[in-house]
Amino acid sequence: MTKSFADDPSGLSGMGHDNVHDFFEQEDLEEYYGKDERKKPEKLSYYYDYVAYLHLLLVKEGKKKGFVLDSPSYLKTIKKLKIGWKRVTWEHNEIFPNTIKLSKELSELIVKKHRYDDVTSIVCSQDEKFLNEFCQGIMNHKRFGEIEEYPTCCINSHIENKWHEYEMVATALDPNLATSLANSVVTMRNGSIFPFNEEQFDHESKMFSQILTTREKFPFVIHQACQKCLDIDQSPTSKLNTDFQEFCTKKAPEIYEKILDGAKGEILRQKKNLSISWKEFDEERRFS
Ligand SMILES: [Zn+2]
Repeated sequence: MTKSFADDPSGLSGMGHDNVHDFFEQEDLEEYYGKDERKKPEKLSYYYDYVAYLHLLLVKEGKKKGFVLDSPSYLKTIKKLKIGWKRVTWEHNEIFPNTIKLSKELSELIVKKHRYDDVTSIVCSQDEKFLNEFCQGIMNHKRFGEIEEYPTCCINSHIENKWHEYEMVATALDPNLATSLANSVVTMRNGSIFPFNEEQFDHESKMFSQILTTREKFPFVIHQACQKCLDIDQSPTSKLNTDFQEFCTKKAPEIYEKILDGAKGEILRQKKNLSISWKEFDEERRFS
C-alpha cells in the first residue's frame, strides 16, 4: 500500500499545491539536487502529499486522533487504508485571540463578514464518537488544530498571527478603527492587495521564516511550529516530530527519504520568498 503511494503521490494534502508545483516547474534545481533522477523537481513538489499520507497512517494506527482534508479526491486513498471518515459541511469562521487591539464590536463584525456556511471537508478518524460529536458545526483555526492535535502553543500562535493581519489592515486604513471598516478590512486582508505596506510585508516574511525553520527542524509535522517551539529544545512540536519520524521509519520507510527531500525543496521555496525585500516587492506590485 505504502509502496504504491510512494510511486504515485496524487494531490493528497490540499495545502496550496498549485503554488508548490509552480515553484518547482519554474526553478532550476539541478544545482541544488544534482542530476539524481529520483530527485526530479516534480517529485520534490509532493512534499505535503507524502507528509499527509504519513499522517493518515498515524490516524490509521491510532497515533493521531484526526486529519482534515479538503477535497473528495482523497477518498480513494482513505478507503484503501480503511480509515474511518466523515464528510462534514462546516460553518467556517475566523477566530480572534484574547489579546486584541481592535474593539470587540469591530472584531465580531470582521468575523461575521468573513464567515462561510458551506465549506465541505473530509475528516478522518478511527474514533467514531469523535467524528460524530466533535467534528461538526463550526470550523475555525482552533477547531482544525484540535482535530489534528497540533500543540496548543502553535494553535494559539497561528490564531494570533492570522488575526494580526486583520489588525494591521484595519490600523492602516483608519487609526480610529471605526466599525464601518469591517467590510474593507476583510476584502483587503483576503485580496491580492495584501500585504500593502512594510509592516504587513514583514509579518508575512516572519511567517515564511517560521515555515522554513519548521521544515528544517521538524520535517515530519504538517503544521507551522510557533516561535517558541522553534526556539527551545524539547518543545511540543519537537516531541511530535520525533514520534512521527520514528513511526515513519517503522511503518512507512518507503516515504522516509521522500519526506526529507521534499522538505529541502520546501526550504528552497521559502528561501525564495524571503529573498525579496519590501522595496523590490512594492516596486513590482506598483508596476504590474
Ligand atoms: Zn508551539
